[in-house]
Amino acid sequence: MFHGARLKLTAWYLFIIMLISVSFSGVIYKVITNEVERFTLAQRYRIERRLREGQYFPPDLHFQGTLPQVPIMDPELFEETKRRLLLILIAVNGGIFILSGGLGYFLAGRTLNPIKDMLDEQNRFISDSSHELRTPLTSLKSAMEVSLRDKNLILKDAKTLISESIEEVNKLQLLSDELLQLAQYQKPNSYGKFEKLSLTDVMKKAIRKVEPLAIQKDIIIENNTCDFKLEGDRQGLCNLFIILLDNAIKYSPKKKSIELTSKKTDGLVAVYVKDYGIGISENDLPHIFDRFYRADQSRSKDRVSGFGLGLSIAKRIVELHNGIIEVMSKVGKGTTFIVKLHISKQTVK
Ligand code: ADP
Repeated sequence: MFHGARLKLTAWYLFIIMLISVSFSGVIYKVITNEVERFTLAQRYRIERRLREGQYFPPDLHFQGTLPQVPIMDPELFEETKRRLLLILIAVNGGIFILSGGLGYFLAGRTLNPIKDMLDEQNRFISDSSHELRTPLTSLKSAMEVSLRDKNLILKDAKTLISESIEEVNKLQLLSDELLQLAQYQKPNSYGKFEKLSLTDVMKKAIRKVEPLAIQKDIIIENNTCDFKLEGDRQGLCNLFIILLDNAIKYSPKKKSIELTSKKTDGLVAVYVKDYGIGISENDLPHIFDRFYRADQSRSKDRVSGFGLGLSIAKRIVELHNGIIEVMSKVGKGTTFIVKLHISKQTVK
């Protein structure tokens, strides 16, 4: 598909370049031949004037009382010059045609490549998402079909099936919400409204959101961040810290603590989200920001719920703020996520 589009775009480039080149050549041809004609005439008038004034005798003209016709340029020579000029212009245009054909093909590739990458990425996203949606939907459907075929199904079993199905549907809803969020942040220019805001406000809002989960696991969140002035998308930054805090809670055993600190470095504020949870293995670390990636520990054992989308959303939000996200982790010891954001030069109202 892209090869055809590339050839089409090359043809368009070529058409435009050749249109300009041929038009210019036509103008050059016309101007030069007119100039030669004008020069010939001017020369002829000048000689005729001198003849009339008796100042000049060209060697091949013999003055016999009346003024002779003055052939300044041989018409054949003139035609020959025109022909040569035409040939030169055709050769130049041929060269331009070949050169711009190659250049056009190269440029068409350069123009279409980012679009191709974007489409590939979109297709991957669609196929990943439909795969993730398909698996729980299929198991939900087969559980229902099996129960429906069961002639001895009693009310109690039916109720259990319904409540399990609701749980699955809730998960699917969560997945579709995360997919929507990711798609939203993946759009080009998907910046929300950038505004001046305070880090303390953002952190407080994020902590409030995850507090019920922390209470459930008896986890204390120690917020030791200082107030820095930032410029960004309030909701986006809030979502970013909700994701990191939510993970810190999810992947920590009960009764642990989560520490939040901040530090200023080279015009950036670094926010540290440190937990004492299960940690991430060295093999998993390079992939945790990939879409749908889940480390083995989170899939097996206690089966922590999740779809492997949170960190890809977090990374995208940080990118939209021209920031940096890093991670340090040790299996069994804990994990620290570091988010570096630009400090606003203006003060917050
Ligand atoms: P999930 O929905 O699975 O949590 P994420 O994209 O948020 O998806 O995280 C990807 C993977 O990174 C998780 O499955 C988990 O294995 C690992 N991970 C993320 N945060 C932590 C953390 N604080 N502690 C341990 N592992 C983590």
